[in-house]
Formats: sequence, C-alpha cells, structure tokens
Amino acid sequence: MLVVERAHLPGVDRPTLPDECFRFCRSEGGLMSGRGVVVSPGSGLVGRSSGGWDHRQVTLPADCHVHSEWSWDTGGPTSAAQGTMERTCARAEKIGLPAVVFTEHLDFEDRWRAEPRDVVDHLRPLIGPDGILRPPRLDVAGYLDCIGRCRHTFPGLRILTGVEYGQPHLWDAHAALLLDLSELDRVNGSLHTLPNGEDRSEPTTLYRLWPPDKVIWAYLAEIPRMLAGSDAFETFTHIDYAIRSWPTDDAGPFDPRRFEGGFREAMRTIASAGLSLEMNTRRLQPWIPQWWSEEGGRTITFGSDAHVPEALADHFPEAVAMVAHFGFRPGRRPEDPWSR
Ligand SMILES: [Zn+2]
Ligand SMILES: [Zn+2]
Repeated sequence: MLVVERAHLPGVDRPTLPDECFRFCRSEGGLMSGRGVVVSPGSGLVGRSSGGWDHRQVTLPADCHVHSEWSWDTGGPTSAAQGTMERTCARAEKIGLPAVVFTEHLDFEDRWRAEPRDVVDHLRPLIGPDGILRPPRLDVAGYLDCIGRCRHTFPGLRILTGVEYGQPHLWDAHAALLLDLSELDRVNGSLHTLPNGEDRSEPTTLYRLWPPDKVIWAYLAEIPRMLAGSDAFETFTHIDYAIRSWPTDDAGPFDPRRFEGGFREAMRTIASAGLSLEMNTRRLQPWIPQWWSEEGGRTITFGSDAHVPEALADHFPEAVAMVAHFGFRPGRRPEDPWSR
C-alpha cells in the first residue's frame, strides 16, 4: 500500500478546512485529529500514531480529472502549456500519487456565446467577431502519442486515458465519428453550457444576464436532459460547476440549502442511471458526498480538475476524509471509484 506523507502533498501550505469540518471523522472512532486526515485502516486510509494521531498520512486515490496541453483551454500543445502532461506525471511521482487519468476536453463542434471578460486572456482569440467561442478539437492522435511517451518515461506511474466530454447529450453522433470512446479508460461527462436563446452560454456569462438563482435552477434542470440524451459517460463531473462563478459580491455567499431539493433530485437521477458522481476537489463541498450518499449514490470518484501540474490532487486528503465519512471505500485499483 502506498503511503504518502501529508507534508509532501500539494495544498498543505494553504488554509485547509476548519476543525469543525473534520469533527465528523473524529466521531467515527476518534481517529481524526484537529487538522489531520487520518481515518482508519479499513477505509484505505492509514494513520500512524506516536503518542497521539499527530503524524498524518493518507493513501491517495487516482486523480480522475486532469488536463494537459491537449485540452484546448490550457492553450493547446503549441502554447506555453506544452509539456504539461509530462510535468504532471513528474509531479504525481513526486507527491506519491499512484495514478493519473488525463481527461482532456472533448467538445466537438461545440460553440457558445461569451464575452472576452468571461475567459482568461489566452482564450480570448477563440471568441469570434460574432461573440461565439469555438473551441479547437481535441487532437486525439497527438494526445495518445503523448500518453505513450509518458508511460515510457514514468513506468512506475499508472497513466490512464480519458476525456471530459462536454454536453454529451448534444454530440453523441459526432463523438462516434472522431473516436471510439470505449477505447478510453475513463469518460467524464460534463455540463458546462446551458441554452441561452438560440445559443448556449457558460454560467459565468449567464450570471450577467439572469438572476443568479435562475442560473442554478437552469443548470439543475439540464442534468436529467443530459442523462437522457447520452449513455457515453460513466461519471458526472463537478455538479457544483455553476457555483464556481456565483456572483458573491451581488448575491452574497452561495447557500446550497436554498437549492437542496434541486441538487438532491439531480443526484437521484444520476444515481438511478448507475453513474458515479465526481468529488471535484477544486472546492470542497461537504454537502455533495452527504446528499449523494443519502440519495442513493453508490460510487464516487476524485478529480482535481487540474489544468497545471501544481494543482494535481489538490485538497485530496480532505476530500478523502469527507468521502470516507459518508461510507465510501476504495476499490481494488487506485482509479476505481470508491463505493458504498
Ligand atoms: Zn469541466
Ligand atoms: Zn475539467
């Protein structure tokens, strides 16, 4: 069993969750210290005690949502992002991550309405004079070649293939023309855009056009349509995607309880389709694994959504502790979803 020193993990220099976020784990047998992430050997997490649970270690799962230069929003393989996959693999080895799934954006002929201020600088040239952002297609051959090179360079690391398939319910026919998704190790399904009149737009754009609550409810309403329209993906990613750009300055802090019924209903739909939910670790939302478990969710994956090597496995120790608390346990391989 691979054991990683917490002190070597990314994110430890940043503020972690307050003590109360971990108190639930202490209540599960007293194996959690105030700032620690130790749970129990039976959960796949390992703790070592020397006069108390002050020496913290954690066995990490695979990061199942990682981007490299082959994702268009990093700038692409000829941009400054070149070499990101290799550097991410080096980072994984350095921090003791057992496996990485490179899930590059698969967006096909997708297009959405956006303004330059909605995107980071290097993506602004992708927005045409008509106000439509058209992402470049994934270079499948280039991506797979790069995977092969990295497997050769890092033989001790499990490097798996995958895509983050955007709006799969709109593009399944196109997907079949570009690549055989069943050949990939992982297909994450993502909802990034919503109908906006004749076009579609990202939540960050819609918040300027609509009341904020309407954006969240529209996002939740699209989830069952996405599930009904495609069976090409096995994990539903970042269910909190629309919260990332929530306009806190105007609307105050996001309160999930105001939308609890909608999130729970979306989770029931995802669970009844037999899919995994992703614990996206960019922002740790304890209510996600809680409501997911309560609404019949059986499996969960961990994904940092890293677009740079430094973000790989970000917040994984805390995420693992939360997910373990709600009864999810590791599978045989590091990339297997945790199940309950
Ligand atoms: Zn995404
Ligand atoms: Zn992503």
